[in-house]
Amino acid sequence: MRQRLVDYLRKKFPFDENVLNAMGKVPRHLFVDKGLEHFAYEDKPLSIAAKQTISQPFTVAMQTHLLQVKKWEKVLEIGTGCGYQTAILAELGATVYSIERQRELYLQAQQRLLGLHYRASLFYGDGYAGKPTLAPFQKIIVTCGAPEVPQALLSQLAVGGRMVIPVGENGQTMQLIERTGESDYRTTQHGEFSFVPMLTGTNHE
Ligand code: SAH
Repeated sequence: MRQRLVDYLRKKFPFDENVLNAMGKVPRHLFVDKGLEHFAYEDKPLSIAAKQTISQPFTVAMQTHLLQVKKWEKVLEIGTGCGYQTAILAELGATVYSIERQRELYLQAQQRLLGLHYRASLFYGDGYAGKPTLAPFQKIIVTCGAPEVPQALLSQLAVGGRMVIPVGENGQTMQLIERTGESDYRTTQHGEFSFVPMLTGTNHE
């Protein structure tokens, strides 16, 4: 079923084969809630705890494709959710740091990724602040809809780095931001998507 999903994605868009390979390896059915495993290899978002969602496979493929992750690169993810995108980044050989503002999801993702032997450093906190102590990051991926591009994330992107972020309040435009110099950024747009909102603070504040 997983291979069928990969073949379907390949027909929809010329995704980087490394991205498709990673998606062919990560067991998405182990990232969704009990009872929904059956739908794990359809190209659909699914509900997870805390009223959040696991992104649609097409969306994960597109964000990862645009990010162009290489082995050993430092990648910061905002919005760990169930940890599926985190696992894809780890599968590509990146050194992954991921922040989640819902404590329940952070704890669950931690257990799940450990159990599946994916290495990633997870943090419970507000992704708007990024992780200044670990910056700069070659790649930054935001997996929730940001009303605007957070300044802290722009400043934590390495020169030559890429950030993929869905921007907008009612529906989002996928933006790829390349940092071309100390104070130069180039932004391109890559289609319309629908994400759960990027919220400030954590769920215990
Ligand atoms: N990458 C996830 C997508 C989960 S949905 C996956 O593969 O399943 C987006 C997630 O972003 C939600 O879990 C939500 O709680 C989280 N989120 C929203 N605003 C955030 C913020 N400011 N900081 C960190 N996480 C945030």
